[in-house]
Amino acid sequence: PKPLASRIALVTGAASGIGKAIATRLAAEGACVVIADLDLEKAQAAAAEISAGSPNPGDVAIGVQANVTDETQVQQAVDAALLTFGGLDLVVNNAGLSLSKSLLETTVADWDLQHNVMAKGSFLVSRAAAKVLIDQKLGGDIIYISSKNSVFAGPNNIAYSATKADQAHQVRLLAAELGEYGVKVNGINPDGVVRGSGIFAGGWGAKRAAVYGVPEEELGKYYAQRTLLKREVLPENVANAVFVLCTSDLSHTTGLHIPVDAGVAAA
Ligand code: NAD
Repeated sequence: PKPLASRIALVTGAASGIGKAIATRLAAEGACVVIADLDLEKAQAAAAEISAGSPNPGDVAIGVQANVTDETQVQQAVDAALLTFGGLDLVVNNAGLSLSKSLLETTVADWDLQHNVMAKGSFLVSRAAAKVLIDQKLGGDIIYISSKNSVFAGPNNIAYSATKADQAHQVRLLAAELGEYGVKVNGINPDGVVRGSGIFAGGWGAKRAAVYGVPEEELGKYYAQRTLLKREVLPENVANAVFVLCTSDLSHTTGLHIPVDAGVAAA
């Protein structure tokens, strides 16, 4: 059987970019996947793409609308996993956005939006999921897609980076609290995933390119050349780390953050 056969996953923000790559990989490894996103049409399109070729597409992936800042919609996404697939084993807190603003540019509304989506959103998702994981008594995995910025300072990104640091501490706190139920909680710190990222395409790329003084179309190459491995990081590289974290080979790893940045944080 495939390594994740009979596992049921919920991935937030999975209609695009890194989340979509994670949902694709988990499904390819045998998991049933709930793709939860603000954008229902894109979530359903991603589910259809991932399920293409399967005799029963609805058995592979479904797309649901869920704003992670909304407690009711988060519960509905968890319920969708229970109702459609009969359980929940893997949860990936991936939904996010970046306003990429300096301290003086950041409004209270900007601060609240960043923290609502990433700090409060992942708290709501983890809490709703943890209730199920504890009741099922089968263990499970909660994975946060945090960021290199949770640890390292970068320019013009205060609200984003602060909320990523909040997520990193949620990882440690939940690893401590949920360990006795066999639930592992880990984080991944990506950096420079330009290709496929809605965050980069939606304005962050242009701002970052301006900060670094490179043309926007060269940004992927720019990020690659400052890494130790001289490699561009792709959404699939982050998805690979998620897959490894939830295989039985890493059954004794919790409270950890794995960098997926081609070595930039170590440089
Ligand atoms: P993306 O824009 O392609 O994906 C983000 C997804 O989250 C989108 O589909 C969006 O609709 C969804 N989303 C936004 N707000 C939401 C909400 N309130 N409720 C539900 N869904 C919501 O961007 P991406 O680059 O793939 O980013 C995915 C995650 O990876 C984010 O948490 C981001 O901070 C993190 N990350 C990205 C990079 C990078 O280099 N791209 C680096 C470090 C961390």
